[in-house]
Amino acid sequence: MLFTDLGLDEGLLRAVAAEGYTQPTPIQAQAIPVILQGGDLLAAAQTGTGKTAAFTLPLLHRLIQRRAQGVSGAPKKPLALVLTPTRELAAQVAQSVRTYGGHLPLKTTVIFGGVSINPQIDVLRHGVDILVATPGRLLDHVGQRTIDLSAVEMLILDEADRMLDMGFIHDIKRVIATLPKQRQNLMFSATFSDDIRKLAHGFLNNPATIDI
Ligand code: AMP
Repeated sequence: MLFTDLGLDEGLLRAVAAEGYTQPTPIQAQAIPVILQGGDLLAAAQTGTGKTAAFTLPLLHRLIQRRAQGVSGAPKKPLALVLTPTRELAAQVAQSVRTYGGHLPLKTTVIFGGVSINPQIDVLRHGVDILVATPGRLLDHVGQRTIDLSAVEMLILDEADRMLDMGFIHDIKRVIATLPKQRQNLMFSATFSDDIRKLAHGFLNNPATIDI
């Protein structure tokens, strides 16, 4: 399988080639077609499998399509929301989005706790297309109405098992409750525990399941 077989936007293919990737990894080969078709996904994938590109590439592809259809308005509300357990992972995901989508007019913003909230409020005020966040700080912004999640079309939970281990389940549920009902949901987890299945059952619609 080649990246060119996946139907990704030309600019994204160029970015992938520039990174030196020759072939999609197994999780990418399986997840990218599902995501491009708009389906929900539950994927078991460890760090190092290429899972970040498995969701960031099709996420970017779908947002380019949305823009091509003329979705805009200022300031822009996030269309995609990626939740991660830690600030390090949030920064890493945002870096991937910028690496693959640097040529695109899409704004990526990272929000995490442990730092002052005011600079984040300033950044959010300027609009964002892709928001990468840890759950607790995101909820703070929701509570202060400094972020509007009413336009989110894609929700990605990355390292969901770690988020559960870290006690984020209630925060995640409260964030999800503020999102539009009509949206695409992707969940990545290193393990498939009963708790993960329960969480998945609660917010994924008829998901494709990938277990590498
Ligand atoms: P991840 O599992 O998302 O943390 O990715 C692990 C590493 O694999 C990252 O450094 C990526 O840059 C790299 N990577 C992702 N996709 C590919 C690919 N198709 N071919 C080679 N390396 C890749």
